[in-house]
Amino acid sequence: MSAEGIGASRFRLRARLSRRRLLGLLGTATAGLALASCSDGLGAAVAKRPAGNSTQGSVAGSRRNSYVAAAPPPSIALVTIDTLRYDQLGIYGHPFVKTPALDAFGASGVRFNRHLVQEPQTNASHASLFSGMYPASSGVRVQSVDKLSPTLSTLASVLAGRGYQTAGLFSWISLENQFCGLQHGFQVYQDLSAPLAPGGNPYDLATRKGRADHTTDAAISQLSAFSKASPFFLWVHYFDPHYPYQPPGAFATMYDPGYQGLMDGTLQTVDAIQNGSLKPTPEDLRKLLALYQGEISFLDSQIGRLFAQLSGSNIVVAVTGDHGESFGEHADLDENGNFFHPHSLYSSEQQVPLLLRYSPVTRPGSTIGAITQAIDLFPTLLQLAGAPIPAQAQGASLLPLLDGSESGASRAAFSAMPDDVFTSITSEDWRLIRNNASGTQRLFNLSADPGEQHDLLATQTEQAASLGARLQGWMKEVKIAS
Ligand SMILES: [Zn+2]
Repeated sequence: MSAEGIGASRFRLRARLSRRRLLGLLGTATAGLALASCSDGLGAAVAKRPAGNSTQGSVAGSRRNSYVAAAPPPSIALVTIDTLRYDQLGIYGHPFVKTPALDAFGASGVRFNRHLVQEPQTNASHASLFSGMYPASSGVRVQSVDKLSPTLSTLASVLAGRGYQTAGLFSWISLENQFCGLQHGFQVYQDLSAPLAPGGNPYDLATRKGRADHTTDAAISQLSAFSKASPFFLWVHYFDPHYPYQPPGAFATMYDPGYQGLMDGTLQTVDAIQNGSLKPTPEDLRKLLALYQGEISFLDSQIGRLFAQLSGSNIVVAVTGDHGESFGEHADLDENGNFFHPHSLYSSEQQVPLLLRYSPVTRPGSTIGAITQAIDLFPTLLQLAGAPIPAQAQGASLLPLLDGSESGASRAAFSAMPDDVFTSITSEDWRLIRNNASGTQRLFNLSADPGEQHDLLATQTEQAASLGARLQGWMKEVKIAS
């Protein structure tokens, strides 16, 4: 990329710049962003300031309400679905993708309509869920390299300390403890990646991707193995929507049966698109999306069996995603960074479903429109369990939104790419995305422009300044900026 290519007039910049490249580029940044300490933000240990001093002024500590947990405390099932865009589910308004099990489950509890992740990458996002911390504070940024410190509390470790039985079942190898450090607190920790063939590559997505039928079988088996004498915390991770997109049987042609081209969802195709050697036509792109949607429908055809085992009034069930997926929506991105993940902080990658059911506190068919974020589940689930919320928590309990004691209008979500090139704030109807290497920004009104195609930075100057100051404050708080 030329030096002029990173001037203030340009926004596009590969999100996957190496750290060294980013530091080199900073010398020509034009907006005076104070990023001198960004080296602290990558792989940093723990934010120095306690969570209670968060920029949001709304973290767990200050939003603990008077909720009294049930006795005995409820069991908790946390289901994470990899690479699941919020807008692909019927319950989030998709007109034809078949997700009847997820739709029915969501209708039995509360649906969060603007739920955002902290980093659109598997390990970092899961580390945020389990630790309640932003990736810059948890230290889990780079996929399969950074690991959560065992000195930090996790949902599993806190609940195990309260007498919960704990089990984590995951369907991709990157969530093995050696690659993420998330085993802490789990008494059972099982990798459900497809079996490794003799001489095979253990990290080969094409052969080792876990499948929802097997994931569901294992989860149901684990449920039957739990003792009835104490509550359980079960984490189940599904991997099906993650590329390669090769859904089984009829799911492969469910959404584009007439396609005659060569586009398939194999890893070779994914790689070719990412390295720029394959430029999908509109028909090809429709087929690629159809295959992704087939994976989602296959997952849905299996997950209903798990939901059937999770009924009852004394069990909390939360279903969410770790990030979304890009399908060429944003031409401003680097031409090879407009597909898959992790490439951007647009809603296509940052927004995921959150469906929560716990009959004592959730009303069937209800919805929450406030901005919520992945780290909010940590204090929420611990509060429902009657467990103490560790001081490391940087999210805000969702319970005040459910009982109406809080409107949620002041809430915001903060996200960053693994290398901090892009950071963003989302608050009410607005999202500001900052390119920290070029110093450029983009501003979108999410209600009027959910596809984020119309940059309003030039006309909504007060809104941009307000959000920009808030974003800068958060970046300082988590040591991305000084
Ligand atoms: Zn993922």
